[in-house]
Amino acid sequence: MPVPGEITTLNLEDELHTCPACGYALGFHTSFLNVNANPEKPVRSTRDVYRVILICPECGARYDVGWRISFSEGEKIIARTRVIQPS
Ligand SMILES: [Zn+2]
Repeated sequence: MPVPGEITTLNLEDELHTCPACGYALGFHTSFLNVNANPEKPVRSTRDVYRVILICPECGARYDVGWRISFSEGEKIIARTRVIQPS
C-alpha cells in the first residue's frame, strides 16, 4: 500500500481525471482534510472548513485543487446530541 505523500497543489484546467504522477486515468478518490486541525489546539472551531483532497487510487498521490467545503450543518447535529453528564 502506498503511504500518503505530500499534497501537491494543482490548477484545474478543463478536466482532471488523469494522475500527473503515474498516468492513472480513471479518476480520483476524495478525502476531506480539516483546515483548522492543529495538534496544539484541540478545541474545534464552530465553523470547520475542510480542504477537498483528491487521492490517486493507483499510486496514492494527493492533490489539492483549491476546493474548500464547510460541514457547519453537521456541527449543529453534534451539539444537539451532546451527552449531559450527571453531577
Ligand atoms: Zn497516480
